[in-house]
Amino acid sequence: MAKNTKHCSFCGRLESQVDFFILGQDSAQICNECAVQASEIVKENTSKKSSLLNLKKEQLPKPIEIKEYLDEYVIGQEEAKKYLSVAVYNHYKRLMQEKTTDDVDIEKSNIIMVGYTGTGKTLLAKTIAKKLHVPFTIVDATVLTEAGYVGEDIESILTRLLQVADYDVKAAERGIVFIDEIDKIARKGDNPSITRDVSGEGVQQGLLKLLEGAVVNVPPQGGRKHPDQKMIAVNTQNILFVCGGAFDGIEKKIASRLNTRVVGYNAAKENELVDKQNLLQYIAPQDLKSFGLIPEIIGRLPILTYLEPLDRTALRRILTEPKNSIIKQYIKLFNMDAIELTFDENVLEYIVDKAMEFKLGARGLRSITETIMMDEMYEMPSKNQSKLIVKLLYAQSKIEKTNLNRLRIA
Ligand code: ADP
Repeated sequence: MAKNTKHCSFCGRLESQVDFFILGQDSAQICNECAVQASEIVKENTSKKSSLLNLKKEQLPKPIEIKEYLDEYVIGQEEAKKYLSVAVYNHYKRLMQEKTTDDVDIEKSNIIMVGYTGTGKTLLAKTIAKKLHVPFTIVDATVLTEAGYVGEDIESILTRLLQVADYDVKAAERGIVFIDEIDKIARKGDNPSITRDVSGEGVQQGLLKLLEGAVVNVPPQGGRKHPDQKMIAVNTQNILFVCGGAFDGIEKKIASRLNTRVVGYNAAKENELVDKQNLLQYIAPQDLKSFGLIPEIIGRLPILTYLEPLDRTALRRILTEPKNSIIKQYIKLFNMDAIELTFDENVLEYIVDKAMEFKLGARGLRSITETIMMDEMYEMPSKNQSKLIVKLLYAQSKIEKTNLNRLRIA
């Protein structure tokens, strides 16, 4: 196109239709809008490539670095953080291993995390996802059912991974999947010959295939497979699986194992050393088996770790310390209306006391704070006031007026 006609060489628009042109060689010119679009395409492609495929070992975050990052958002849970950081780092190293002649093949080590609900399993997974250079997704095991039943096929676990990888199969095959509520697919009851259970062993068998590493046909849109849907073949051999579950009642299995093991002369002494308040710390693979996971699945989840129950001190820290703690979020909310918000220390203690009293755990901190702050959030933006200090008497009056059942379900 001749230069004097002043058309964009890309979209063909005239000079009068755009803001300006950038001139290139041989009469080429690009309009400001095409330039912006071109820059976005470049950015998208380079970030995709560098984040997924061109990883260099020196660029990898080391386990200590990953753990320090987790520390900024998740309080406590030292062991789980350490295990997770190492697993992710090793996952990267596996992906980078070159074919050598020494026949040493680093195999993957999928993880299982056991911990009461609301202690930070999902938070850990979500936080680590922000630090990752590979596709990552969280799926809920409760929706999975055996082929032929209502619910989603096991393969749909990989649909989400494909989606976050923009259907780049190679990238998805190096990804990490967090399977939440894995305990919900445990066989109900200890009797293995119990009539076939829809959400039980069949699902576990299906999952086993994925954990072991197999080429599976994935429905690109998820849900159930149907005959005319085009499937995408995904090899799961290099996908790292991290599982999490509350395993309600597993303490009983742990306790009975500890009791039966500790017999004889030293029994009483050893029993005394057992911290009965926190039995999860003694969790072992055989407890998962007694709970109803099949041994083959347990064998494919070689790293077993646990999350501590959250005590009062942990809850108090969760309220203010994490980078996006609840209190920091409220301060920011008010700040956006140019209001400086502060809480008296005894209000923070009170919120924690209530969360403990109602056995709401960390999830309760938000609903209690929300109840205390609701009226102020409603009224303050219309007032001409630049400061707000939340006092204990005020907080107490708000909580006492509330129907406590509403807090409980939160
Ligand atoms: P789980 O998956 O174990 O049931 P979540 O990770 O969903 O629990 O935790 C629920 C909420 O409680 C999180 O969004 C977070 O606000 C808070 N929380 C739980 N545990 C922690 C923790 N250890 N540190 C910081 N916040 C936590």
